[in-house]
Formats: sequence, C-alpha cells, structure tokens
Amino acid sequence: MPRIAVLAMQGDFAEHIRALKKIGADAIEARTPADIESADGVIIPGGESTTITKLMKEYGLWDSVKLAHSKGKAIWGTCAGMIIISRNIVGQEKAQETLGILDVDTQRNGYGRQMDSFEENILSSAVNGWFHAVFIRAPILKRIGVKVEVVAKGADGSPIAVCDGNVFATSFHPELTDDTRFHSYFVGLLNKNNRQ
Ligand code: GLN
Repeated sequence: MPRIAVLAMQGDFAEHIRALKKIGADAIEARTPADIESADGVIIPGGESTTITKLMKEYGLWDSVKLAHSKGKAIWGTCAGMIIISRNIVGQEKAQETLGILDVDTQRNGYGRQMDSFEENILSSAVNGWFHAVFIRAPILKRIGVKVEVVAKGADGSPIAVCDGNVFATSFHPELTDDTRFHSYFVGLLNKNNRQ
C-alpha cells in the first residue's frame, strides 16, 4: 500500500490523515526526515505558512521535502501548503522563502478581509464534477507556469487547483469535508514520477 506522509508541524494535518485512512491509504504524521523518506508522497496541510516554514526548518524537514521532490515523489500542498511549495510569494513587503517546487506565484490571504472565509461549489476535472470547496484565508494564484495544468476554477473563473506532473496544489481544503475524491486523486498521482 502506498504511504503518504502528512507534515505534522502545525495546521490541519489530522483532517488529512482521517481522509486518507477513509480511502484505505497508509497515512502517517511526519515529524522527522525519516518519516518523509519512508513515504511515497507528501502532503503539506493548511495552517499558517510562516509557522509551518519555520518549524519545517527547525525539524530538518525543509530539505527532506525538497529531496523527496527531486526523487520524484508526489507532493500536495493545500492552502498554506500551496503557498509553501510555490515558486514565489507576491504582494507582501516582507520576503518569505518558499520551496519553489511548483511553478506558480501565490498571494497570501488573496481574497481580502471581507471574503476571508467562504464556501462554494466548484467544477474540477480532477474529480470529474462538482465539489464543495472550503476556503479559509486562502491564497490566490497570481501566475501559473506554462507547464502547469489548471484542474479546478472557482465560481469567479480564477484557478484554485493546479497540477504539474505529480506536484499538486489546492487553495481550498478538501480535508475539511467528508468528500475524499481529491485525496483519491492524489493517491492516483503517487506512481506518476515525472522527474526521473
Ligand atoms: N493565510 C494562511 C497563510 O498565509 C493560509 C490559510 C490556510 O491555510 N487556511 O499561511
């Protein structure tokens, strides 16, 4: 059975584990480089991207996730996780380092205060239909690299889920619903190694 390591530094990692177990995947909480090494894929959950980044560095997981990516393992970032894997963060004065493994630029809290959390039904080719998407202080995708495929758009037409080979990102939180189809989609990416 493929193993998925969910980064358990901060944020909603428990919800990802629950969703993965529901579909029969071997999901573990990752707190050490060995946890990441033992897995076929990695999820960086939602939470606070600055806090997760700081803790990843402290626990030696920053380089482990980069290594996992260079070995061709599948990576999925949700919300804060999408920010962390993006190439650049735009629209803020203070520089924030990213893993840079997905060729997109993100803007944190891109929907502004009025809309800071909302839910809407979206259409996605990744799940072949409608999905109830939950957005919480979500980032916006400001630029998408030419090789990156948009697999879901929000009601306003803006991209909210993107995929480059087996590197996947969603600005919303599939783990906060009972619908596990995005988790199944990610499990389907585990054997898709586009870097070796
Ligand atoms: N706004 C958060 C950040 O910038 C992300 C929010 C989330 O993951 N729900 O890190």
